[in-house]
Amino acid sequence: MAVERSSAVVVGRFSLGESDRVVTFFTRGFGKVRGVARAARRLRSRFGSALEPFTLGELVFFDNGRTDLVQIDHFDIVKPFAAARDDLERFGQSAWMVECVTRLTADRDPNAGVYALLVRALETMEAGLPPARVALAFGLRYVDLLGHRLRTDACVACGATAVVSDGVAGFDVSGGGTVCSACAGALGGAFVVGGGTLGALKRLRRASWNEATTLPLGPAERELRALLEAQISGLIGQSTRSARFLREVSRVSFEGSR
Ligand SMILES: [Zn+2]
Repeated sequence: MAVERSSAVVVGRFSLGESDRVVTFFTRGFGKVRGVARAARRLRSRFGSALEPFTLGELVFFDNGRTDLVQIDHFDIVKPFAAARDDLERFGQSAWMVECVTRLTADRDPNAGVYALLVRALETMEAGLPPARVALAFGLRYVDLLGHRLRTDACVACGATAVVSDGVAGFDVSGGGTVCSACAGALGGAFVVGGGTLGALKRLRRASWNEATTLPLGPAERELRALLEAQISGLIGQSTRSARFLREVSRVSFEGSR
């Protein structure tokens, strides 16, 4: 039985039997790994609070190579990222980032770029930057890392370079980028954003991480998030659970503020 080690983030978990947990990690060295943490739900578990969602730690596991589930030996906390769990909005946005990773990566398919991006985004969330912006900056870089960058320089159907008309731009999200108004009509519709939003997308892609998580975007921010959600839902094949959770959170906080 091989002993393996890697830095890892807790990205999912559920109960197994009376006292065990199955925990999903996104690891730097192995990609997504699922393992059994024996007796993790006992009051005095040796795992303590290490298996809380978003926790970054050093994972040691045994892999017998016969099943998809590994045996978790140790998980030592490096950064608990507790702030991501003490506020509904921050929790929802962090859960959305983690869901993007768990649902669009395969087991045992390492991607050091995605791992580094997730850790950086969780660190920025912890530092108290606006959660929705951190998630947007994460999501745009994430789809790029997976090779799904939307084209913005020309119509993906006919190649025309005029993609902004009457101040708006259309996207064929499943087709991979912008469409001109004629092709949008032929498609029977497109995902429409303001011309300024297209500019904001280009700025965010060029920006450093610090700029991308702070530069003012105005109404383009909501439009970009909706575009990103449409793209990610299309890649998954259904809408994300955490986006539904976030809609509930914003509805509740709106009603609470009236
Ligand atoms: Zn066209």
